[in-house]
Amino acid sequence: MDLLRRFSFPGIPIRGQWIRLQATLGAIAQYQNYPRNVQALLGEMFAAVTMVADNLKFSGAVSLQSQGDGALIRSLAECRDQQYLRGIAHLAEGSASAPATKSLADWLGKGQLALSLLPDKSTRMSPYQGLVAINPRGLAASLEDYFRDSEQLQTRLHFASVDGATTGLLLQRLPDAPDASETAIAQANEDWITLTTLAASVTDAELASLAPEQMLMRLFNEYPCELYAPRALSFRCTCSSEKSDETLMVLGREDLLALASEQPEIHVDCDFCGQRYAYDRRAIDKLLASRAASLH
Ligand SMILES: [Zn+2]
Repeated sequence: MDLLRRFSFPGIPIRGQWIRLQATLGAIAQYQNYPRNVQALLGEMFAAVTMVADNLKFSGAVSLQSQGDGALIRSLAECRDQQYLRGIAHLAEGSASAPATKSLADWLGKGQLALSLLPDKSTRMSPYQGLVAINPRGLAASLEDYFRDSEQLQTRLHFASVDGATTGLLLQRLPDAPDASETAIAQANEDWITLTTLAASVTDAELASLAPEQMLMRLFNEYPCELYAPRALSFRCTCSSEKSDETLMVLGREDLLALASEQPEIHVDCDFCGQRYAYDRRAIDKLLASRAASLH
C-alpha cells in the first residue's frame, strides 16, 4: 500500500513528510505504458501534489499540470481528498521510445507548470492556480523555489524514482512563533541548516529502499523525531457514466444523432483509467429522452 508519513522535530519549527508510491504507479502502468523516465516524472508529480494536499484541510483536488512543446506535450497529476491519485502524460509522436533521461526543462521545451487547488463546491472555497517556474535542476528544485516565492516557506525536497517506485522526502521551515526570542530564531535557523544538510546526504538508493523509521534514524539520529500515523494513498479515477453522459451531451442533439447513425456504438474512453463507456443507438435515444424530460 502507498503511504505518506508526516514527521516533526519536537521543539523545532521544522516539519517533514515522507511518501512512497508504488502500487499507484503500478496501477497506472496497467493502462498506460510510459517510458521509465516519464513514469518517474509522474511519480514525482504525484508525490508533490499529495504532500501539498496533506497540508490542506479541504475536500477537493490538488493538481500539478504541465504543457509544453517538448517531448512531453501535457501532463497532469491529481490528488483528490488527500488520498486518491490519478494522472496522465501525453507524449509527442515518436517520443515514447526515446530512451534518453531528460531534465524537466528538456521534457517541457517552452512549457509551463502550474499547481492548482480545486476545492469541492460544498467547501465554498475559490479555486487557485499558481505557475511554478521551471528550475533547470528539476521538479524538486522548481517546487522549492515555488514554496519560497509563493508561500514564504523554505523547503527542501528530495525524490528518488527506482524500479517503478517513487519516494519523496520534504523538510519545511515553519514560521517562528510571534513571541519567539532572537536566540530561539537563530537556533531554529541553525537547526534548519543542519537538518537540510543531513537530508541532502541521503542517496537515491537509501531513499528508495529504507522504511521511514530507518531513514529518519539514519539521517537525523541526533535529533529526536516524531513520526505520525500513515495516510493511505491509492489510485482511483473519478470518471463515471454520468460524466461520460455530460461529455456526449456537449456535442448537442443533432451531432449526437448523426454520429449514432454512422456507427453502431459510440465510445467515450477515459484517458486516466482506460474505462470505456459505450452507447448503442438505444442508449443514445434514452439519454436524449431523459435530457428532454428534465428540461420540462
Ligand atoms: Zn477514469
